[in-house]
Amino acid sequence: MIFKKLNDYIYNDELDIRQRMFVINIINFTGVLAITTLEMLISGAYWLQCLVMFILIIIVDIVTYTSITKNHVNRGSVIISAIMCFCVFPLEFFNGGGISGTGPMWFVFNILFVSIMLKGKTRKIFAAAEEIIGLGCYLVSFYNPGLVTEIKGIKQYIYSFTALLLISISISVLVSIENILYIKQTERMNRQSKEIESLVASQNRFFSSMSHEIRTPINTIIGLNEMILREDISDEIAEDAANIRSAGKMLLNTINDILDMSKFQSGDMHLLLENYNTGDMLSDLVGMLWIKAKDKNLDFRIKVAPDVPATLNGDEVRIKQILVNILNNAIKYTKEGSVSLSIECEKKEDNLCNMIYTVEDTGMGIKKEDIPYLFTAFKRVDESSNKHIEGTGLGLSIVKQFLDLMGGKVTVNSVYTKGSTFIIEIPQKAASEQKIGNYDYEKRHKLEKRPVYKKKFEAPEAKLLVVDDNDSNLMVVTKLLRETKIQIDTVKSGREALKKTLEKEYNLIFMDHLMPEMDGIECFNAIRKQVGGKCKETNIVILTANAGEENRALYARTGFNGYLIKPVSGADLESEVIRQLPRELVVLTETIDDSEDAVTWTDDNIRKRKVAITSESINDIPQALLNKYEIATIPHKIETAEGIFKEGIEIDSPGILKYMSTNDGMVTSKIPTIEEYEDFFAKQLTKANYIIHITPSSLAENSSYEVAVKAANSFDNVIIYDSQNISSGSGMIAIVASRMAEAGMDYNEIIARLEKYKLRVRTSFMIDNMDYFARAKYISQTYANLTKALLLRPVMLVKNGKISTGRTKLGSTRRVWTQYINSNLSSGKYETAALFIVYIGLGKKELAWIKAQVESRYSFDQIIFLQASPSLASVMGPGTFGMMMVEKIGQ
Ligand code: ADP
Repeated sequence: MIFKKLNDYIYNDELDIRQRMFVINIINFTGVLAITTLEMLISGAYWLQCLVMFILIIIVDIVTYTSITKNHVNRGSVIISAIMCFCVFPLEFFNGGGISGTGPMWFVFNILFVSIMLKGKTRKIFAAAEEIIGLGCYLVSFYNPGLVTEIKGIKQYIYSFTALLLISISISVLVSIENILYIKQTERMNRQSKEIESLVASQNRFFSSMSHEIRTPINTIIGLNEMILREDISDEIAEDAANIRSAGKMLLNTINDILDMSKFQSGDMHLLLENYNTGDMLSDLVGMLWIKAKDKNLDFRIKVAPDVPATLNGDEVRIKQILVNILNNAIKYTKEGSVSLSIECEKKEDNLCNMIYTVEDTGMGIKKEDIPYLFTAFKRVDESSNKHIEGTGLGLSIVKQFLDLMGGKVTVNSVYTKGSTFIIEIPQKAASEQKIGNYDYEKRHKLEKRPVYKKKFEAPEAKLLVVDDNDSNLMVVTKLLRETKIQIDTVKSGREALKKTLEKEYNLIFMDHLMPEMDGIECFNAIRKQVGGKCKETNIVILTANAGEENRALYARTGFNGYLIKPVSGADLESEVIRQLPRELVVLTETIDDSEDAVTWTDDNIRKRKVAITSESINDIPQALLNKYEIATIPHKIETAEGIFKEGIEIDSPGILKYMSTNDGMVTSKIPTIEEYEDFFAKQLTKANYIIHITPSSLAENSSYEVAVKAANSFDNVIIYDSQNISSGSGMIAIVASRMAEAGMDYNEIIARLEKYKLRVRTSFMIDNMDYFARAKYISQTYANLTKALLLRPVMLVKNGKISTGRTKLGSTRRVWTQYINSNLSSGKYETAALFIVYIGLGKKELAWIKAQVESRYSFDQIIFLQASPSLASVMGPGTFGMMMVEKIGQ
């Protein structure tokens, strides 16, 4: 009974773990004390000593009881530890036969007890006190041996053995129970974290379905409202309709903010770094906000420093979102005066720059004491003054979280009632040397008070099928496209759509996603495979209320030709139709503004290619050739103590060599993850029906081949091709493949030809020293030192996909380089079209020397020099160069 109660108490998860440990320790401790006292009694020790022990037991139990009932476990632990240290241990030491008796065992037991019972500083103090008392007992017994009760003969053995037995059993019980508690606690924590995960997932599901449900009716409201605005209506009705539009947009912004917040909370928010045109981004921004400022009679100014790079690398959508939020607030909280945006660029090392966006307003300002709370989610400051201004208090919190993700920051200066200045800094990479120059936004944008509807095109011959289970959505699309005279059929389900596509050839299909019975993705797949279907090749655009990056990726992966999010505007619909329809069916009625931002991933009027070739950053292909042959590359990454960087985008090989020369820390090259490959393939599949992805040799160290294959399993039309080569050797294979794809070959033929071609590619590297191999842990440092001392320099060769050490060369740098070039070019068996020379950490002089040596031996049409990828550089080290060429057929 008592054991059951005790068991329930110890394993009761509701109680604090320290409290339970306290009870276990005390029971254990009193047990040991009681048995020892009993033993003392039996062995005939002085009754006074037995009485003292008995009193100590009573005190310990009283302290324990009051500690638990009064919830003073810490205090109780200190008192009992003190009793142990200062009373029990000395008593047992001198009565138990000193150093040759039970003293040392009690010492160990005491230390363990203190370590378990106490924490922090108190534990350290008690442990030190215990050591001092131990030393004191030893010294006292040494100088006054008479104080130690002498225990001799059989008694000494019994005493010693019982103490050993007691203390070892006690320690083992303690450790076992702690272990069980620890395991239970870990299991509980795992259970809890799973529960939290599923809670967050269901919260995310709730938010995204809420977003979907709200977007659907807003689509009708905004769509039909746009139809009203297109009519010849009175000013009053026009004003009402404009208010409906802005209220609808406001509601949409709130939904988007809530979705973003939930993504931040679940850690699912990721950035998408890409090159973007700075001027276009700013024009979009001005286009969105200028009218709002004008409507409030505010002066809207924008000043852009001419040295701002024309192209930047960053997440354009999110940067725009940050600036829209700040500018929106500036307009919202300013009654009169001006709102201005100025943009500057602070140059950092290499092509990195700190973009500084300053938003200044002459509005109501913010009280100094409110500034720290500006970025707290759902917090609106100075509510009494701005209660009539709509807002959720989410905007700035999202801004801050995005800036944290981008490594940027925001500072706020404000004078209450006079105005505010928000300074935003975002580090970004300049993606070109070109500068923006004199940016004239008035010229870039036709700034009109109220946009007057003008149809962009007519396409009376074109046939469009719209699939949506919601009548209002069908009506909105039909009405918004009415002026374009396009022939529209609408159906309410996937089944009906399949009937239509069997009967009639459509030039474009708009497909909803969530529909009962057969959803948009199933319907898409069925149309593509439909036996006798007339729309197998027709472009299909998903038109859905499902927003968010993950949905975009899903639709891209499925193979949709475009993505439009509801609510959709007439302008977005028209732009998308123009993009997707064959050119001959479209008659443009006004010039198309390139900066229009309809959501699509097919280039203007460019239809999908049959086959696209993709590659990896470590396949060393010069940028100019990547552009020329339209080869998209997925970046590998480099992990250093300072973080993880994308190759070629965030770090280059001189950068990594510099880092490695000044830093002994580990540098690891990391292959992309399955998810990154999937996203990459999904994006590329929007441009081509098939992808042949060229990987470095599957037999190379840390090869990405397996991961790419796993990612490709999610797609029917991605083929992973093992180049059985590395560096530009793999790159040359990608270039040749791309030329075949351009010539219109299908993927089977390309693969068959590559199989023969890859056998002819020769790749080798002349390594300067083995230090970097040792750092990458491929060989031992001793071996590296030995080869260096003996002036041995290895040549690495690629043979049948394996990378092995070829002949090692001996001597000075120039001597071994000459030997290497000689042995490579001695026979005339290579194609003269191109020689790739990949180098690491070599200067102009050295490269010129290599070029002259090569030219004096062999006549290549072109010698292409390029720096090795950071991954390769981090393994092979500076002073390395390699030659990659192709053997003539029949050699
Ligand atoms: P809200 O949706 O309330 O605008 P935000 O997170 O964007 O939420 O802003 C939080 C609060 O900061 C606002 O409620 C407002 O009190 C204050 N604020 C933000 N920008 C400005 C500004 N430019 N001038 C004055 N107050 C501002």
